[in-house]
Amino acid sequence: MVKMLKTRALVLRSRPLGERDRLLSLLTLEQGKLSAVAPGARKIKSKLAAGVDYFTCGSFLLYRGRSLFTVSQLEVETSFRNIRENIRAYAYGMFFAELTDKLLQEGEPAPEIFHLLFNCWSSLDENKADQELLARFFELKILSLLGYHPHLKGCLYCGSTAGPFFWSNSSGGIFCEKCRPGGAVFPFAKGTCSLADSLLGMAPEKVANVRASAIQKKELKDFNHHFLQYWVDVTSFQGLSFLEKIVNVEKDK
Ligand SMILES: [Zn+2]
Repeated sequence: MVKMLKTRALVLRSRPLGERDRLLSLLTLEQGKLSAVAPGARKIKSKLAAGVDYFTCGSFLLYRGRSLFTVSQLEVETSFRNIRENIRAYAYGMFFAELTDKLLQEGEPAPEIFHLLFNCWSSLDENKADQELLARFFELKILSLLGYHPHLKGCLYCGSTAGPFFWSNSSGGIFCEKCRPGGAVFPFAKGTCSLADSLLGMAPEKVANVRASAIQKKELKDFNHHFLQYWVDVTSFQGLSFLEKIVNVEKDK
């Protein structure tokens, strides 16, 4: 087995480990998600200290140990400075990282998800797209890339595109009023369904051109979370609860 791995990676999570070190969850371009210790990174003078924070993309030289990797060298490519200076962008960026970290298994290459996260962090950094729509785009895309692609092009049973639709998690698609199955379904207005479908087929840089009403955004958020919750416990996400707090503070102003 090759002991050294040189790879581009994004820092998904970084937490203190003992007095000196940090434990990182990295999304590498070549080998997917992996855990790595950054020795001495909690020391201010450490060469690694600057590159082990959230929102880092860098070139990592990793040494494979028995159970974990160790960061041996690190060159920061970008640290998405604007995300760090904007509290909303920070919360969204953290949510993207958390979702990636929770959904991916270690050691399974996921280059498309690497590019998705990199592009969505870049978009937050450039502050061109509506952050809420970017988040919905990210949620839909990551699930789709992991194989949970929602069918949103007309009723699964009869093909009707008239709407309104009813989403079924167990079927992974929508039904029309006539064909809707029994059990739990999520009602879905036609416009919101088309919005979700167009986001799914879109390149990240195009999200900046998308406009949606507040009602559509609310419905799409509820839909995505209903869909996501089927796969992962979103209620435990720190980035999301942090976001809710920010939104509530802004509302109270
Ligand atoms: Zn139907």
